[in-house]
Amino acid sequence: MLKKKKLGKRKARKTRKLKSNVKESKRLRSKRKMKVQKEKIEKKSEETKPEEAFQEQKIGLKAELGEENLEKPVLGITVAKSKDFSEWYTQVIQKAEMIEYGPVSGCMVIRPYSYAIWEVVQSFLDKEFKKSGVQNAYFPLLIPESLFKKEQEHVKGFNPEVAWVTEHGDTKFDERLAIRPTSETIMYDSYKKWIRSYRDLPLRLNQWNNVVRWEFKHPVPFLRTREFLWQEGHTAFATREEAEKETIDILNIYARAYEELYAIPVLKGKKSESEKFAGAVYTNSIEIFMPNAKAIQGCTTHLLGQNFAKAFDISFLDKEGKKQFVWQNSWGFTTRSIGIMVAIHGDDKGLVLPPRIAPVQIVIVPILFSNKPTVNDRILELARDLKKELKTFRVELDERAEYNPGFKFNYWELKGVPLRIELGPKDLEKEHVVFVRRDTGVKENVPVKEIIVKTIKVLADIQDNLYHKAKKFLEESIVKTGSMHELKKAIESGKIAFAPWCGSADCEAKVKDEAGAKSINIPFGVQKVSENCVCGCGNKAEAQIYFARSY
Ligand SMILES: [Zn+2]
Repeated sequence: MLKKKKLGKRKARKTRKLKSNVKESKRLRSKRKMKVQKEKIEKKSEETKPEEAFQEQKIGLKAELGEENLEKPVLGITVAKSKDFSEWYTQVIQKAEMIEYGPVSGCMVIRPYSYAIWEVVQSFLDKEFKKSGVQNAYFPLLIPESLFKKEQEHVKGFNPEVAWVTEHGDTKFDERLAIRPTSETIMYDSYKKWIRSYRDLPLRLNQWNNVVRWEFKHPVPFLRTREFLWQEGHTAFATREEAEKETIDILNIYARAYEELYAIPVLKGKKSESEKFAGAVYTNSIEIFMPNAKAIQGCTTHLLGQNFAKAFDISFLDKEGKKQFVWQNSWGFTTRSIGIMVAIHGDDKGLVLPPRIAPVQIVIVPILFSNKPTVNDRILELARDLKKELKTFRVELDERAEYNPGFKFNYWELKGVPLRIELGPKDLEKEHVVFVRRDTGVKENVPVKEIIVKTIKVLADIQDNLYHKAKKFLEESIVKTGSMHELKKAIESGKIAFAPWCGSADCEAKVKDEAGAKSINIPFGVQKVSENCVCGCGNKAEAQIYFARSY
């Protein structure tokens, strides 16, 4: 479907191109007229503010493009986020140069602008893992079938999604090789050899890699792709207590990545039995509620218990010389998080990036006028000095002579750059610059000598504001429900239903059937309730759980 849409767009582009060719001669005739108009605008710009000058230039540009384009912005997003979320999302990630669709459905190219975001998150997580005692390693991409099938629940859970390598050249392999959908089996084959005694524990390894899961559901870049990047941590402990503690410690690091870097508030909790990872004792997760009223799993930590240890015979001699099986965990954080961030903060103009993960935190846009070369030189000189002064931030100076300031404003807004600094002839006179925030659009004159202090403050404010806005949305989306009727009503109105639940899979299935909502997770630290189960089964509730429509 994505492909079709794309072909459609290509066709539309082609048609537009043809139309524009026809208009070419007409345009040449009016070019002289345009030039006069442009000069007039530039002259007027000297007395007006840059954004007013831009409005006029845009009108001029529209005239040049022809009547059919009058209502369409030249560069920007053409649908409102609230009107058609999925089209909005598709446009943003492409127009902001984050992704390109690959030739195989469900596989995408991660372009430098979004890879840079991944690198920021990667570096944060990597540092935190290492601080907690985890080491990095790398294990092979291909897993022999016999090894992959050693743990039964795991196989059942993953089998339909596994892509297999069956031949090289024209020769068939004797045994099929799985392209890793996750690395439990290949890693534990080594763990079995490395762990002999209690002295070898804990063993805590992580790898940064890609995995392939041949999903059947409609692929959405970042959010659900057949190949994605992630880290997978795999650890082995002598006791269950140590393993359980780690599942929470790591989940807290993940929560910090979402909250402190991406500025996204999360729901932390335990998955239900039917939603847990294949082969785990239980799964903890971080869930995010998206603006299209669907919950999405942000990342997970799994207590694998001794299931894999028994299947792979990963055992050790304890201090008393007795043979014991290890307790294991696995945990992962993926590039899906980038898509979640796009969806949470983006607006009708495009991306809105939290400063802490923005590849470009500040863009300096000089406002130049073609009839004022000496002033231009001074503006550019100051702009270059400013860039140097701000070098501790990720800063860009947009000196491109072929684009006018208005185009540049749109371009960097689309790319979600948190702070724009404008610098024009008037600012030069007054020795100040203009700060424009991407999150609120608020403008402020800032004296040149206060720039560093002010920049630090504004970037911190933007980070905070995005987080609090998202938190407000999350809090307002949670509705306490006590009956199936209330639950259905909450789901229908695009909310998360928080409900007492007896713990049975049947009742979970009933909610799915009747309300179209899945169980999300059971928040930690919520007191046991005395209410009855939301489904009307008559049983006492075991826990309070979130239900929502979900990805
Ligand atoms: Zn029940």
